[in-house]
Amino acid sequence: MSMLMHFSNKMLISVAVFGVLVAAAPALQAEELSKTDFVLGTVCTVRLVEGGNSATLTKAFARLRTIEAHMSANRNDSELSHVNDMAGKEPVKVSDDTFYVISKALEYARLTNGAFDPTVGPLVKLWNIGNGGEKVPPEKEILAAKALINWRDVAMDEKAHTVFLKKAGMRIDLGAIAKGYAADEIEKIMLADKVKAAIIDLGGNIFVYGSKRDKSPWRVGIQNPDSPRGDYLAIVTGTQMTVVTSGIYERFFFENGKRYHHILSTQTGFPVDNGLVSVSIVSKSSIDADGLSTSLFILGIQKGMEFLGQFPDTYAVFIDNQKKVYLSPGASKVFTLLDKTYTLAEK
Ligand code: ADP
Ligand code: MG
Repeated sequence: MSMLMHFSNKMLISVAVFGVLVAAAPALQAEELSKTDFVLGTVCTVRLVEGGNSATLTKAFARLRTIEAHMSANRNDSELSHVNDMAGKEPVKVSDDTFYVISKALEYARLTNGAFDPTVGPLVKLWNIGNGGEKVPPEKEILAAKALINWRDVAMDEKAHTVFLKKAGMRIDLGAIAKGYAADEIEKIMLADKVKAAIIDLGGNIFVYGSKRDKSPWRVGIQNPDSPRGDYLAIVTGTQMTVVTSGIYERFFFENGKRYHHILSTQTGFPVDNGLVSVSIVSKSSIDADGLSTSLFILGIQKGMEFLGQFPDTYAVFIDNQKKVYLSPGASKVFTLLDKTYTLAEK
């Protein structure tokens, strides 16, 4: 792929959905339709379990491509790249999509006091994790990239619908949140086309839409961090929900025996190093689940749990490198541990 994107270029699909096929299909039942494509820097699949037709899938993928054209940090022709190119120069008029997602990312930056920060772009570009040939950058360059990060230096003009990065060299990166937005946008297409049940899988960000014919709940698997893909540590059960995971096993490299992954600390300029391996969020809103999975990963277990308190009906599953699983209050209702080498600690 020469046209790299920072939405996440992992090819691994870390989460899967079980119990999807409807058994004993009656003669007249339409065949299940599904489409898979590489978009938003990852493998995306939309599967219509009940309702909808091939035009629904066409619309869904056209929407994903539009979102990519608006928000990819690594496509030179994207709206976001234009905003980044004009940093320190002038405001850039953007689409509703881009304006909304940047605003939402800035809200997370404010709420997390800059732990989550979409202006992390210079640091993301410097580390370039997941794109091959990575090495730990020189300290001087890390400091220079870090100095450009500050969400307060993004000026949003509601009326003119423009975004302005106040300092030359600043860069916005929406990799931590854009796929979540995209899943919510696909949900709208499902609603409009009166789809009854569907699975939206954007590189492991899962949205199970509607309810199955037999009304049994969806079962979404959480990837086992230390096993090959498709081996699940746990299952999340529910109807109409999104399950989004941020983890260190997705995009990383090793140098001198140390692992460097793609979730970066705006404080240290290095990958977040707090003992966590992954954080999964269960929610109704995928943009929030995506924003939260990255935010809670950075905040760590204690601060992350506190932070989550302000989001109703949203659960978190933290997995650390000691094989411990921490559930947020209430999450045990939807969570089943499969791998008994892990221990469960409710907080
Ligand atoms: P994935 O893209 O693998 O699904 P995440 O949603 O956790 O995982 O997003 C990770 C991406 O977020 C990184 O690849 C990078 O583009 C961006 N990012 C890294 N560090 C930060 C940060 N501190 N704040 C906001 N975004 C970040
Ligand atoms: Mg995220």
